[in-house]
Amino acid sequence: VPNCDIELSHVTFAYNQEDVIKDVSCKIPQGSVTALVGPSGSGKSTISKLIARFWDVESGSIAIGGTDIRDYTARTLMDTVAFVFQDTYIFAESVYDNIAMHRDVSREAVEQAAKAARCHEFILSLPDGYNTRLGDGGHKLSGGETQRIAIARAILKDAPIVVLDEAMAFADAENELALREGMAELLQGKTVLMIAHRLYSIRDADCIYVLDSGRLAESGTHQELLDKNGLYAHLWAIQNETEVWQMKGGVSHA
Ligand code: ADP
Repeated sequence: VPNCDIELSHVTFAYNQEDVIKDVSCKIPQGSVTALVGPSGSGKSTISKLIARFWDVESGSIAIGGTDIRDYTARTLMDTVAFVFQDTYIFAESVYDNIAMHRDVSREAVEQAAKAARCHEFILSLPDGYNTRLGDGGHKLSGGETQRIAIARAILKDAPIVVLDEAMAFADAENELALREGMAELLQGKTVLMIAHRLYSIRDADCIYVLDSGRLAESGTHQELLDKNGLYAHLWAIQNETEVWQMKGGVSHA
């Protein structure tokens, strides 16, 4: 892959008959952090899955480094893009194998990734450390631990593009700081696409694309979008109300 610019050009896609992505065009420049936001069901996850070629676009195209992703081998695409948090799967294997994923890597590299993902310490505290078996019949990880293993896996994989679905990223706030730190390590120097369900985490994105029922409604930085007073500003206002309401309602933010 020559570079990691991602470009969607007039992308349309339907699961069944009805289009859920409608003529979407956008650019994600190499090295930038781009966020995709929009109401639930607006097509955010679908776009991230189209980039991974879970499905192919119906019309239009998606290119990475100027080449249509349909022209890359599955292997190249897999090595180029890391997906984090979408259905993180823990295999019935050791912690070590769950991070290394049977790739030809050194023990040092695996531990280094685990340290960067802030999970080395909790792994050492497990009954058999890195050899502790996970999954069915094995040691059960908490939600936050699972997420950090997913980050370690992605750090080790070191793909130049990271697509992050934060749906569950902070779903349980346990060790949120460790999770944020690990994520920062993962995203450093990468081309990042964040599928954001909470707007707080993407305020600093270089560009935010706002989807509405499968169409691109608007784009810009956080401030530009607030100034436009459109859908994003509306979602932002709703979110703030909800958070205030939750705090008043006594939901623990401690
Ligand atoms: P978002 O991530 O913004 O919540 P999605 O991309 O998950 O939105 O969904 C967009 C639309 O596609 C929704 O109407 C959803 O119901 C539909 N959809 C998502 N996944 C599937 C699927 N596997 N089969 C059929 N319809 C789907």
